[in-house]
Amino acid sequence: MQKILVIEDEKEMARGLKDILEYDGYEVVTVETGKEGIQAASRREPDCIILDLMLPDISGYEVCEQIRRKHRIPILMLTAKSQDHDKIRGFKVGADDYLTKPFSVGELSARVMALLRRHGQYAQEMDLIRIGPNTVDVKHFIILRGEKEYSMSHYEVELFKLLYSHANQPVTRDEILDKVWGTDNFPTNRTVDNFIVKLRKKLEEDYRNPRHILTIYGIGYKLSP
Ligand code: CA
Repeated sequence: MQKILVIEDEKEMARGLKDILEYDGYEVVTVETGKEGIQAASRREPDCIILDLMLPDISGYEVCEQIRRKHRIPILMLTAKSQDHDKIRGFKVGADDYLTKPFSVGELSARVMALLRRHGQYAQEMDLIRIGPNTVDVKHFIILRGEKEYSMSHYEVELFKLLYSHANQPVTRDEILDKVWGTDNFPTNRTVDNFIVKLRKKLEEDYRNPRHILTIYGIGYKLSP
């Protein structure tokens, strides 16, 4: 089930949004402040965020900007204002779409569906990924850096994709084992570390001083594009 995070302090509006979206078959998480929203964007891993511009603690623009620094989750911004400069500002800080209150149920449903669909297509088309001086072609299992070309194994690609989908956030060894290896081949934490070294040798200028695949001590790894 796709999950939608609603960041809105007005209780009636938040409840209305929740009802509409749940009726459409989404799981809905609601929070009332910008700070809670920023945390929930990381912790709850929503597929889409509905963000009200007017929040009690920090403005929706700032919330949008902060979420955008870490995540590529589509953001639909809500506002009571309809001036063009607000829209432009919303898009500048990374909102994907904009809805002016009051709006109809149908309009909301259609916008959310379009955002999720567009984002899904984007994720699929994202076969070429830039990491520093490298271009990672996840479809053809290749890393290109300058004149050099490295091939990647199945597990290296899966490991890379997992880290990239959580760019700038730590991913634990357990999560890596679970999502990349599952129950295949009885891997151990050592397996993860070995594959991290393999990836580093291909992605880093100096694999002993990595700049992109970073070790988070006691936790796991983090990809910094
Ligand atoms: Ca509000």
